Amino acid sequence: FLRYGDRFQRSLAAAINMLRSSDTVPAEIARSFGLPAAAVAGPASFFADFSAPRGRRHIRVCGAAACFAATGGRHVAEVEEALGVGAGNRSMDGAVSVQEVRCLGYCFSGPAALDGETACAGADLAAQLQGLAPRRTPPVPVHNDSPVPVVTAGLLGASEPWSTWPNIVASGTSEDVLRQVDAARLSGRGGAGFRVGTKWRAALAHPAARVVVANGDEGDPGSFVDRLLMERDPHRVLEGLALACFAVRAENAVVFVRSEYPQAFARMQEAVLEAQASGHLGTDIQGSCFSLEIDVVEGAGSYISGEETALLSGLEGLRAVPRPRPPYPTEHGLHGRPTVVNNVETLGAIPWIMQHGGAAYSAMGTPDEVGTVVACLSERFLRPGAYEVEIGTPFRRLVEDLGGGLRDGATLRALQIGGPLGGFIGPEDLDVPFSDATLSRYGAALGHAGVVAFDDTLAGEDVLRNLWDFAVAESCGQCSPCRVGAWRGRALVDRPGGPGDRGERDQVLRSMAVGSLCAFGRRVPAAVRSLARVYRLDGWLP
Ligand code: SF4
Repeated sequence: FLRYGDRFQRSLAAAINMLRSSDTVPAEIARSFGLPAAAVAGPASFFADFSAPRGRRHIRVCGAAACFAATGGRHVAEVEEALGVGAGNRSMDGAVSVQEVRCLGYCFSGPAALDGETACAGADLAAQLQGLAPRRTPPVPVHNDSPVPVVTAGLLGASEPWSTWPNIVASGTSEDVLRQVDAARLSGRGGAGFRVGTKWRAALAHPAARVVVANGDEGDPGSFVDRLLMERDPHRVLEGLALACFAVRAENAVVFVRSEYPQAFARMQEAVLEAQASGHLGTDIQGSCFSLEIDVVEGAGSYISGEETALLSGLEGLRAVPRPRPPYPTEHGLHGRPTVVNNVETLGAIPWIMQHGGAAYSAMGTPDEVGTVVACLSERFLRPGAYEVEIGTPFRRLVEDLGGGLRDGATLRALQIGGPLGGFIGPEDLDVPFSDATLSRYGAALGHAGVVAFDDTLAGEDVLRNLWDFAVAESCGQCSPCRVGAWRGRALVDRPGGPGDRGERDQVLRSMAVGSLCAFGRRVPAAVRSLARVYRLDGWLP
């Protein structure tokens, strides 16, 4: 993303690229590019991909919710033992290193690992990594043809991509696209749920050259729809992105893909080249005087860089920490330009909306939350996978009819919805609809629509420990209520309950909820409370 910055930005971007591929220490890299040491040391110490020790063979093992639910977390220790290297370390001879990460997008078949860029998954994960069992990397099961009718907006590949773009760019107007997206009442699927048309119009209100960023940093453990779309249907994502750019008259766009998704990154790069070759992207597309150039940029291992302002900081070569708002990215975003950030799943819905009309989209769902969403069911289900359903579909239908209940006749104990910052519901709550408004009554949120099942073999304290581990590992550390609160909360899980503990827990959760800068720190307390409600961990209730 070099061309948008000044000389400092270009040097910084080149230096960060060098961090990916070189063992040279950050200070030397900085010197070679004429940069202050801190400019490179900051990102080098922030992103896991730069700071984790690397051997010639580097293995990333997932310890997030769905993989944890599959084994109770045992698989991480099994891999460490099998390879003779602890997580976060490199062997003495530099041959192998192991890193625990939080989500690789294989939640439907965990536990999972990436061996270099090759995925493997399954209960015998350690044996697979040792070469004692055949490698298994099952494709994502997609269920929009379930025996139970699933209403679909075609997000999961029901129509040819690039079928609307040529006509729109040649003879349509940006207002045509805006009008349909407004009529669709499409809201962002990344978790924040902001109305897409409103965001686009906010960017249009600022005259400087605009940018659109497709956010493929699907960090929410339990969700894998963005990986699915980018790997299987990258042209649909690109068409949605092109339509968004046309609507806001942006001639530059970025697809940001997290480094835990190497295949998605490669597919998006290929797809951009294919789209350029077929004339869908480039200069003066279809003789329209509209030009569009798309860069595909890889992340470097950080959950918080999925937050839109943190994402922009990361794209500028800085530590990917959230920025205070206002100003909003639509006014002052990437390199100060008005910037629209839309999630990949959100963009994937736009071609369908243009083809069928916004009214058809808004006719689905509930009166307040319209359209479809791709629910991702985790490995514990009999039929795990990605299900595109209308918002408002009852959980019972998802869990029992579509997911088939739990595998091996296991008993459902809890569902984590929307990732670690979403929340939990119990088996007695299955008749509630899959929607943000309803979930908020349970202290939960739809988030990015991951549905991770926990059976009754895991204790509530263990699930809670995994949640706090996530908070400790992924808090960016910028503000103290979240940074310190995460550590204090984690310590309190293991402390035997004493008379003052309940008050201390309350204090930690309250200070995180009211004092944190971004949604990460503000949402952790609600997730902890909702888990405590479902597992009856009274010491964590208000
Ligand atoms: Fe970083 Fe947490 Fe503060 Fe967000 S709330 S800025 S993740 S420390």
